[in-house]
Amino acid sequence: MRPFLLAILGLFFSITIVPRAVAQDGPSVLIVTAHPDDDASFAATIHRITHELDGTADLVLITDGAGGYRFSTFAEDIYGLELTNQEVAEKHLPAIRKKELMAGGAIIGLRDYVFLDQPDKGKTFDADAVMENEWDVELVARVLDRVLAEGDYDFVFTMIPHPTTHAHHKAASIFALEAVNRMTEDRPVVLAGGSLDTFPPESFEFRMLDGHPLTTLSSEHGPWGFNRNTKLGLDDRLNYNIIRNWLIAEHKSQGTMQTYMSLGDSWETYWLYEMNGTDAAEAVQTLFDAVLDIE
Ligand SMILES: [Zn+2]
Repeated sequence: MRPFLLAILGLFFSITIVPRAVAQDGPSVLIVTAHPDDDASFAATIHRITHELDGTADLVLITDGAGGYRFSTFAEDIYGLELTNQEVAEKHLPAIRKKELMAGGAIIGLRDYVFLDQPDKGKTFDADAVMENEWDVELVARVLDRVLAEGDYDFVFTMIPHPTTHAHHKAASIFALEAVNRMTEDRPVVLAGGSLDTFPPESFEFRMLDGHPLTTLSSEHGPWGFNRNTKLGLDDRLNYNIIRNWLIAEHKSQGTMQTYMSLGDSWETYWLYEMNGTDAAEAVQTLFDAVLDIE
């Protein structure tokens, strides 16, 4: 049984964390994402951390994952539900997608999940509007504070809050940054992750999201990259796209997500946020030296 599994219903919530009797020596990571399939961005790196580095990874999921239902066509027969119908989707998708997330999470080695069940009302680009009008800001902040205080994490993985990305992705990252920024001691290092087709990035000019100085990326250190096409195994016939594809395949209700299998943007890329301070770069370098040390 998992050490803690949290489901939030309305304003009522409780959290149970078993003391870390089974604490491991490797890196501990908290992933903060908006949607149930967003962790695919970190799939190979997390698999390395949990399977090869004796590390752990937990995940906070901010929305209930009811969005994007119009692409659930192929999943309708699998679940026996008319998921492309909005009413059916709103009723059933949150539970279905939590199961899909945990099935994918089992593949990459996720340990614990915290579900905040905030509304997932379609794609926009305005993160401020999401934070002000859609999500319960106080609830999200309070739970993140608590998870971070009790989790003793070394790293927090967020999706890079690039202006062109989904408002929910940006808002989730901003919430994570603000929560870590509120910590007075033992802060984890917060990283911004994304997939690129080349590494180092050739013409990557993003530095910060307007109005959110905490999102400023370090111009001095990083980024770090892990190529999912890195060969391994017998006769070098395997690579980490297999892991990410397996994870994606678990998200059968996420129709368009299936088309992302084995795409060319195979570099899982991680930038350091400036708010971490200069010492953080060394910790990230140590992490990626180990992640990239594939025999
Ligand atoms: Zn997403």
